[in-house]
Amino acid sequence: MDYTNHFSTKKTPQSQPIPGRKRMIKNNAGGFVFQIDSWERFERFLILGSEGNTYYQNERDISVENAKNVVSCIQKDGREAIRRILDVSEKGRAPKNDPAIFALALACTFGDEATKKLAYSNISDVCRIGTHLFTFCQNIQNLRGWSRGLRKGVSSYFTKPNIDYDVIKYRQRNGWTHKDVVRLCHPNLKDEKSQDLLRWLIGKECNKSPMISGYEAMAAAKTEKEVLAVLENNPKLPWETIPTEHLKSQAVWERLLLTLPMHATLRNLGKMTSIGMFKSPLTDDTKEVVKRLTNAEAIKRSKLHPLAILTAYATYANGQGLKGSLTWTPNTAITHALNEAFHIAFGNVEPTNKNWMLALDVSGSMGQGSVAGSPLKPYEATAAMAMVAARTEPFVEICGFSDRLIKLPITKGDTLATAMQKTRMSNFGGTDAALPIQAATIHKIPVDVFAVYTDNETWAGHEHVTQALEKYRQALGRDAKLIAVGMTATEFSVVDPEDKRQMNVVGFDTGAVQVMADFARA
Ligand code: CA
Repeated sequence: MDYTNHFSTKKTPQSQPIPGRKRMIKNNAGGFVFQIDSWERFERFLILGSEGNTYYQNERDISVENAKNVVSCIQKDGREAIRRILDVSEKGRAPKNDPAIFALALACTFGDEATKKLAYSNISDVCRIGTHLFTFCQNIQNLRGWSRGLRKGVSSYFTKPNIDYDVIKYRQRNGWTHKDVVRLCHPNLKDEKSQDLLRWLIGKECNKSPMISGYEAMAAAKTEKEVLAVLENNPKLPWETIPTEHLKSQAVWERLLLTLPMHATLRNLGKMTSIGMFKSPLTDDTKEVVKRLTNAEAIKRSKLHPLAILTAYATYANGQGLKGSLTWTPNTAITHALNEAFHIAFGNVEPTNKNWMLALDVSGSMGQGSVAGSPLKPYEATAAMAMVAARTEPFVEICGFSDRLIKLPITKGDTLATAMQKTRMSNFGGTDAALPIQAATIHKIPVDVFAVYTDNETWAGHEHVTQALEKYRQALGRDAKLIAVGMTATEFSVVDPEDKRQMNVVGFDTGAVQVMADFARA
């Protein structure tokens, strides 16, 4: 008999490791894949977090696994860990800042002295707004005690230039208020302005800044007329300061819209539509908001994350709020603007003009759980990510795979909604991530880059992805590359770490699109 039928380095079922290869581990589906290194996993966690269950793991288990890895990275090289936390957080690469805040709290807890010191000095760079700070303090309460260095680090938040605006915009979260933070940290701030603010926060006599006085005037406003008068005098007051009963008023929202920041605009589109604004694509308020949503400079400045826009798009187009009973008839011009804003938020990436095959995992596991704490399913998020490449690159073929190859008729002409719809209709079955490469081999498709969007839980194939890729290269004489776009924060990947022409990126890292293009060109 030919024993290599059963034991071969060229063709090994995904249910077994490739003989002789290190760093292959069993994924949650029982298939063998490569283990990404601890820094890659660190980055996956920073970008995707572990909020919500996945198909295979509950939130707690996947969070504990990731936290342990973060701690081990911090202990290996604290300076590098903090550099990465800052890069993801400050550039707004991740949909949510919570993983970076948590990782920083871990650095404050498990780092050596030098690491802790560095972490303290970066608290206000990671915790840029009140809600970040409250989350950080809550993390700290559950991890360690308060030292002088830590108090000083947290106190630096109160010296930020826009601090007045911040303290009235974010009043509380998870039971935390600024007053609690001040009482814990006793910020020792020298200048008169900061001291006045601290006095105000703990309810003592002080000189109030115009922003604080405006806030108090708004809190005291009883009628719509009074609210409008206060807004007239304090046009920069955040919408959160408006008494709740007046947030149903169209006149109030019309006034607010004049100065409403990008995040707040995005968040309140449904609300504003439901109370009678944006009646038609032809009205002035619609034109104004469309102009704002598609302003590349404004999107960049606001660090609006594409996943936040995608979520707003899906919610707005659906005509119904995620929570509560709010409903509206979507304005098609606004839906379209959100579709464009999503693409704009990834930044301008020059096309590589390479031949791209985008392979979307549409297996059953991609239909469970969410991506980065958003209400979107992994397969919906992958469809949207694929649209980014489809709109950037001139030469793209898109296919889907479960345990069989699936035609996904997505083109650059699709909207995010139609692309997600086409993917939804194919979302079921087992998983074999090698199929698209095998098909390209059989049909002699000239591919420069295979980009596989997946949770890396492949198991059903009769050979590993890296083996299929090697066969493709030899059969077609093309040095094709492979990029795995990871959609869950596991330690698994189909990417062979010994092959320099294969690479991992993290799905919904805003930096990923540029990194993928650079890799394709290299
Ligand atoms: Ca699967």
